[in-house]
Parts: sequence; structure tokens; C-alpha cells
Amino acid sequence: MTEAQRIYNKSEKAKAAQRRYKLSEKGRARDRRARTSEKYKQRVASEKYKEQKRKYSASPKARALARAYALSGKAKAARRKYEERHREIRRETSRQTFRKLRQLVLNQYGRSCACCGESIEAFLAIDHINGGGNTHRKSITTGFYQWLKNNHCPPGFQTLCHNCNKAKHRLGICPHQSMKLGEELGSSPNHAMPQ
Ligand SMILES: [Zn+2]
Ligand SMILES: [Zn+2]
Repeated sequence: MTEAQRIYNKSEKAKAAQRRYKLSEKGRARDRRARTSEKYKQRVASEKYKEQKRKYSASPKARALARAYALSGKAKAARRKYEERHREIRRETSRQTFRKLRQLVLNQYGRSCACCGESIEAFLAIDHINGGGNTHRKSITTGFYQWLKNNHCPPGFQTLCHNCNKAKHRLGICPHQSMKLGEELGSSPNHAMPQ
């Protein structure tokens, strides 16, 4: 390299040209090639390289650059993009967890309504036999199904369909049961909903 070349290489003009080249299609393609070469892979796998990298990352210069990047609009956009991409994944994971928990709990308490025998899964719910469901749900920090699992599906709960469950809690007894009782007693039961 001649002296003139050395001087030129240090000039702002040369640096700008290098930056332009790095960002150009051609420059990026060369980077990609370099990053996938065997020589590169060997170099980054070496202890010497890792040590250098550790040293650099801990240096004030690298830290300042990392801080500046973290506060930049580019980093914010990247974080937003990451969040968006992972929100859907997290949602799907929690949906799957819930489905599994529900299966486990239904298998334990029965897959049909204890009152009317309804067995279509979408209609089934877990009933607090002695009431107090809302208070109980508020008092626990996990979801209801998770709580049941954590407590090894304790007694005091049963599977009911939503109809029987709702009627039981509003009337104190599901009409299916009061009708049965009425037949046994020979009188017609009162199905009116309380006001
Ligand atoms: Zn039912
Ligand atoms: Zn019923």
C-alpha cells in the first residue's frame, strides 16, 4: 500500500465510501458469504475469539454503544416486532395449557353432567358442590383448573352442564332434581326463577 493510499483510506471520503459499500447489495452479499465460510466458523469457535469478544463486550466503548442502541428507534421497533410475534405464540401456549388442564380435570370429575347426564364437552363445567364458587375463585391466585390440578382434584367438586349448574345456583336445586322429587311426592314442582 502506498503512502497516498494510506492517507486516502483514513479520509472521511473513504470511510463514507466504505459505509456505502457495506450497505449496498454487493457489500451485504460479501458479508453473507464471509459469515457462512468455513474459515469464519472456525474463527468464531476458537477460544481466542471468544475471549476477545468477552473483553470487548465488557469495555466502556461497547457498553456505551449497546446503551445507545437500546434507546434508539431501531431497537424500539425491533422490540415491538418481537413482542408482536411472541404475543400470538404465548397466547397459543396458554390456550394449549388450558385445554390440557381442562381434560385432566374432566377426566377426574367425570365427563358428563352429574345431574342430567349431558356429555357434550362444550356444555360441561366444574361445580362447587356446596356453593361459594365466586368467593373461592377470587381467593386463589392461579386459574380455577390450575388450582384443582395443584390440589390433586380434591372432593367437593363435580361435573355439571352449564344449564344444571346455573339452575342449581339460582334455585338452590336443579329443576331436574326438584321434578324427580315432585314425582316421588306426587305434586308438581315450582320452576319459577327467583326475581
Ligand atoms: Zn346437566
Ligand atoms: Zn339438572
